[in-house]
Amino acid sequence: MCEGGAAPPCIYLDNQATTPLDPRVLEAMMPCLRQGFGNASSKSHAYGWAAAEQVERARAQVADLIGAAAPREIIFTSGATEADNLAILGLCDTPVDGRNHIVTCVTEHPAVLDPCRHLERRGWRVSTVGVDAAGRLDVAQLDEAVTGDTALITVMAANNEIGTVHPLAEVGQLARARGVPWHCDAAQAAGKIPLDVEALGVDLLSLSGHKIYGPKGVGALYVRRRKPRLPLAAQQLGGGQERGLRSGTLNVPGIVGLGRACQLCAEELPGEGPRLAALRDRLHRNLDGAIPGVQLNGHRDHRLPGCLNVVLGTVDGGRLLAALRDVALSSGSACASGEGHPSAVLKALGRTDSEAFSSVRFGLGRFTTGDEVDTAARRVIEQAGRLQLN
Ligand SMILES: *Cc1c(COP(=O)(O)O)cnc(C)c1O
Repeated sequence: MCEGGAAPPCIYLDNQATTPLDPRVLEAMMPCLRQGFGNASSKSHAYGWAAAEQVERARAQVADLIGAAAPREIIFTSGATEADNLAILGLCDTPVDGRNHIVTCVTEHPAVLDPCRHLERRGWRVSTVGVDAAGRLDVAQLDEAVTGDTALITVMAANNEIGTVHPLAEVGQLARARGVPWHCDAAQAAGKIPLDVEALGVDLLSLSGHKIYGPKGVGALYVRRRKPRLPLAAQQLGGGQERGLRSGTLNVPGIVGLGRACQLCAEELPGEGPRLAALRDRLHRNLDGAIPGVQLNGHRDHRLPGCLNVVLGTVDGGRLLAALRDVALSSGSACASGEGHPSAVLKALGRTDSEAFSSVRFGLGRFTTGDEVDTAARRVIEQAGRLQLN
């Protein structure tokens, strides 16, 4: 059983849904939860100054991870959902030159698709670009979709269900060439693959603490400083924190945790990427050798190192996950699973309903060991034969 509190006797392979808090992150946060409780906006005493100093250090750590030119380009939020909403609704609040068109991609997270739909109901036009059979955005289609009316391109870095990484440099070049700002939801990619907002030409980028071994309830939006200024309008009004773009008393412990999490990712990425990719491929080989009809969902090369999403032949994914009480896995998307409809992302790849229902996502992370991966594969293989779709 995976219960809260004590460490469960359970193998955690759902690191795309959330990651455990790294003990080093917790250690960095603890002083802010105890004596360092100051309000970072308090300008008149040492409690406030200390909190503000911690926040500014974290801002620099986040900026460093993504290659931002200056820490002030980072706005702290409650997570990637809020960052996505701020980017999309904030940029489309005041249409520039009457532009009222957004271009997005069919496999985006609901935190992007729902704000786009919201704008559509308010008279905006939304073009949704398709993907190929490996889940990669078609840049030619993106090029066709962009018009003189396009106010924003919102295309994620890496997909949360299948791990596919989009052709990011090409998207950036296109956005630049067409003079359209690009928002990139990098909740899955930040800290997992090298990302450089300057090299890629990203204008707005969302990330989340709890996807990178930091705490839940904190994230950030990178907002490029440029001339003319991006016309981003605050979506939450009040005390004017975060340059007026995100009012509300800063979550200092969360922000400090996010900063430390970013620093650790930056340090460990060069070794961690190859380690996870090797474990992921070993898991894939084990499953493929024992279960008939294993097919990869996603791109073989352009993929997150810790993500393996596969069709397990004609296995009933839902029943498999229910049967495996000691392995935490996800079938397709955490949000779509359990609802009885096939994942929209898998359908966008051209998967049939039954292929989607036989798909399982293995999310490996920083604390995943080779033994765990081998045990999980064995447990899945044991159950696969008897749990077939009927
Ligand atoms: C998890 C996730 C989000 C939402 O992030 P929260 O911080 O949980 O709000 C958005 N987009 C993608 C791609 C994600 O994986």
